[in-house]
Amino acid sequence: LYNQVQDLKGNIRVYCRVRPGRSNVHSVVDNIEEGTITINTPAKYGKGCRSFNFNKVFGPSATQAEVFADTRPLIRSVLDGYNVCIFAYGQTGSGKTHTMTGPKNLTEDGQGVNYRALSDLFFLAGQRKDTFEYDVSVQMIEIYNEQVRDLLATENIRNNSQNGFNVPDASLVQVASMYDVIELMNLGQRNRAVGATALNDRSSRSHSCLTVHVQGKDLTSGNVLRGCMHLVDLAGSERVDKSEVAGDRLKEAQHINKSLSALGDVISSLAQKNSHVPYRNSKLTQLLQDSLGGQAKTLMFVHISPELNAVGETLSTLKFAERVATV
Ligand code: ADP
Ligand code: MG
Repeated sequence: LYNQVQDLKGNIRVYCRVRPGRSNVHSVVDNIEEGTITINTPAKYGKGCRSFNFNKVFGPSATQAEVFADTRPLIRSVLDGYNVCIFAYGQTGSGKTHTMTGPKNLTEDGQGVNYRALSDLFFLAGQRKDTFEYDVSVQMIEIYNEQVRDLLATENIRNNSQNGFNVPDASLVQVASMYDVIELMNLGQRNRAVGATALNDRSSRSHSCLTVHVQGKDLTSGNVLRGCMHLVDLAGSERVDKSEVAGDRLKEAQHINKSLSALGDVISSLAQKNSHVPYRNSKLTQLLQDSLGGQAKTLMFVHISPELNAVGETLSTLKFAERVATV
């Protein structure tokens, strides 16, 4: 483990993922090549081709394993005592939950980043068991209208959160295996569904965050290092038409808008190495402050749908991502 100061820019990566299109529907994706995606824009948005550059672009046929492969080194760095944030950004229906969790009928192949990250973490910790003793605990929260809700709160699980952690009021549960993690993720998902109705799927309008705290004790020196990883499935980035919504929907939309732009502002000012980073502008960036910037590593998966009827949102998503990427 070295203490070298890394190039901050290298600590922020942006990947784009394109979800498969519905069959027989025209795709606006003209071309994907390594880190470049080219969109065929219809007349309404200024007819022509527009290209966007990222660290990598995953096309519709990319598998969950392929998408995770480049994330692996981040898991190792959590065990080395670094903080990591992984975000899924995009409009509702673009594949955020697919990337982070997986499809509804989950098979092993379908498992998303959350499962793969935790399973890698246990695997790597196991490999180091002669030199390090690791403690792993998790939290799951939801941020809805700038309010934080603990998704692991039950009567059975004692709230044993301690000082020094970033999300002070949420249950912190120690886990020893993938089995424990899966149980907790299921609990969190069930708790998340509470408060959602058939007409009002709240999950697309709240941010959900799985946080993994790792404490590693060096068995030779006795030194303890701490790392943490936040896995964030963001609220849908789509703009709502102010003339069409009012009341609760408008309030939700304003909160989402505010927190996603606050996140974009923080990441882009880190990428530009600005001296002032505006963490205080949203609950999300406040909570993640210690894990954004400095030595921390950030990865944003930006999702788009290839369909023509989504092209307006697709272009604004890509522009947002381009602003935070500065590749
Ligand atoms: P979001 O969380 O952004 O609202 P979802 O992850 O729920 O979007 O994806 C919407 C639908 O598209 C789901 O039925 C999901 O299973 C499917 N889907 C998304 N991405 C992919 C993908 N890469 N491959 C196959 N199906 C996908
Ligand atoms: Mg979702």
